[in-house]
Formats: sequence, C-alpha cells, structure tokens
Amino acid sequence: RHFLKTLLAVAMTGALGATSLVQVVHAQDKGPIAISMPTKSSARWIADGANMVKYFQEKGYKTDLQYADDDIPNQLAQIENMVTKGSKVLVIAAIDGTTLSDVLQKAADKGVKVIAYDRLIKGSKNVDYYATFDNFQVGVLQAAYIEKALDLKAGKGPFNIELFGGSPDDNNAFFFYNGAMSVLKPYIDSGKLVVRSKQMGMDKVSTLRWDGAVAQARMDNLLSAYYTKDKVDAVLSPYDGLSIGIISSLKGVGYGTPKLPMPVVTGQDAEVQSIKSILKKEQTSTVFKDTRELAKVTVAMVDAMMAGKPPEVNDTKTYNNGVKVVPSYLLKPVSVDITNWKPVLVDSGYYKESQLK
Ligand code: BGC
Repeated sequence: RHFLKTLLAVAMTGALGATSLVQVVHAQDKGPIAISMPTKSSARWIADGANMVKYFQEKGYKTDLQYADDDIPNQLAQIENMVTKGSKVLVIAAIDGTTLSDVLQKAADKGVKVIAYDRLIKGSKNVDYYATFDNFQVGVLQAAYIEKALDLKAGKGPFNIELFGGSPDDNNAFFFYNGAMSVLKPYIDSGKLVVRSKQMGMDKVSTLRWDGAVAQARMDNLLSAYYTKDKVDAVLSPYDGLSIGIISSLKGVGYGTPKLPMPVVTGQDAEVQSIKSILKKEQTSTVFKDTRELAKVTVAMVDAMMAGKPPEVNDTKTYNNGVKVVPSYLLKPVSVDITNWKPVLVDSGYYKESQLK
C-alpha cells in the first residue's frame, strides 16, 4: 500500500511538473506582448490598456503595459526597453506619430512585429497593421450633429461657429478635421455658417497634446475678441477633454442661461465627465468609440500573426503613412447625445448608470 501511495505521489509530482513545464514553455511562446499607451490623463487610454491586458491574458499571452505621460522621449525610452526585454509584438498608440522610426527599425531587426493602435505611426515601413476606428467618419458625425441641431439642411442660418482641432502630431486629428469639414465647408462657403474669427485649417485651430486647458484659453480669446456683441451658436470640438475646457470658458462669460443658451458643442470618446455634461444640457453630443472592440480586434490581429496567419483587415487604401499604406481594421464610431446615451453606453455594459449620474 505504502509503495502504491509513493508511486502515486511520484507520478503526480511528475505530472504536475510536466504541466508546469508545458505552461512555462507555452507562456514563453506567447509573449510578452508590449503595449505602449500615450497617457493616463484621458480615461479612454486607461480602458484601452486594461481591455487589451484582459483579452491578451485570456488567450494565454503575457503583457507589458506602459503609459508615457504624453512625453515623447518617455515613450521612446519605454519602447526601446520593451524591445530590449524581448517583446515579440509592439502595440503602440503613439504620442507623436512621426518620432518612432529609429526604434521601430531596431525592433524590425529583431523580428518584432508592430501594430499601430488607434493612431497611425508615420514615416516608417516597420508598421505591420493598424487597428483603429473610421476616423474620417468621427469628424463627419461631429459635423452632422451640428448640421442637424442648427437645421442647416432646411436652409436655416446664418449661425456663428468656431472650430477646434486635435493635436497636430496625431494623424487622427487631420482625419477628424477633414471629416468634419466635408460636412461644414459648403455651409461656410454659402454663408450659412460664419467663422467670425476666420480661424480655419488645422494650422490655425489645432490643440497641442489634446490639452483641455489650451482649448479653454483659446476659447477665452475667441470670445473676448469676436463675440462681445455676437453670440456663438456652435463649436466643433473633436474631443471631450477639449469640450469641457470650451464649456467652462463659455460659462465664464455667461452662456448656459435662458437669455444666452449654450451653443452646440460636440466631442469624442464618451468620457464620464462629458456624458454628465450632456445630461446637464451643457455639452451637446459626443462620439462613442467602443475601446473593448478595438482591443478585441488588436488581440485577434496579434493572435493571427503569432500563428503565422494574415490578420483580418477591412481597409487597404486609406492609411498611407508616407512610406506605405498600412493594412487596417476600421471600427464604426457612434454618435451619442441625450436621446441615446442609455442604450449605447449603459445597456451595452460600457458604463454603469450610477457612474454617469
Ligand atoms: C483618439 C481620440 C482621442 C484623442 C485624444 C485620438 O488619437 O483617436 O479618441 O480623443 O486621441 O486622446
């Protein structure tokens, strides 16, 4: 009996040992996957990082997630380090999409694969795939919201509008702006929309690092220079963090009262603060991009590449990074306002209702 017990124990130890060995080998095969995110100052990137870690781990991958505090040298150093530590794949949401060529060459020399996450990486051939949303469509949705809210299609107007753009080192910012202008430009040309400041074009309206304080200061200046007699009817804002700054500036000079109602103010990312603002009838709309879906698409891309298969893409012509057209998977953005926030954000499980009230 004793002999049998011992035999059993030895066999079990062996079996366990073997299992853990298999697990180790397996884990080594499957990682680490390096995830380089720009900043924690916006909730979406926190969600992006957390979702990816979760989905990668569910598939058995190890991950190395880092945030760069919106500091370019910091992100470069983090990525260099990830390559040195032996990551097989880099998933990067770049702070400045043009600054990564050298480190990506080092990565390519070691056979490391690269996925541009949400933001295109420019000027490098060493970008294998791009997972993002239809960024032009984001701008179209923002502008179409203004078009509808002001009833421009019915010929109403003229209305005053001011335009804000995103960070000039983020390729997305140009897609958002161009998408929006594809809707707004005809109304500006016909005089139904008037940009009193005449500040148009990304060179005039961009907001470095998507900084809400910068947008707020610019709105302060616009209001004091051009709107002491006139009122502003709409503000094109490409991102919720800017919208919140713009709204505080507007409130500062008395907007948001029955006598001086808030203009239409757009946004993007469906951040908690902005949904609360929409419920208070301050911000008017936002664009929801489900970061869970983007994370899933990215994890599926990596998983396919690791298995030596081509990842699924649905766009092979839009995203030319200056050196190559990067094969992309584009997800659909969704316009959100006071009428549909609940089905889109709460029923889908993205937020709990209690977070938004
Ligand atoms: C993202 C937006 C985000 C912005 C600021 C862009 O690249 O696509 O979702 O609002 O960066 O973080």
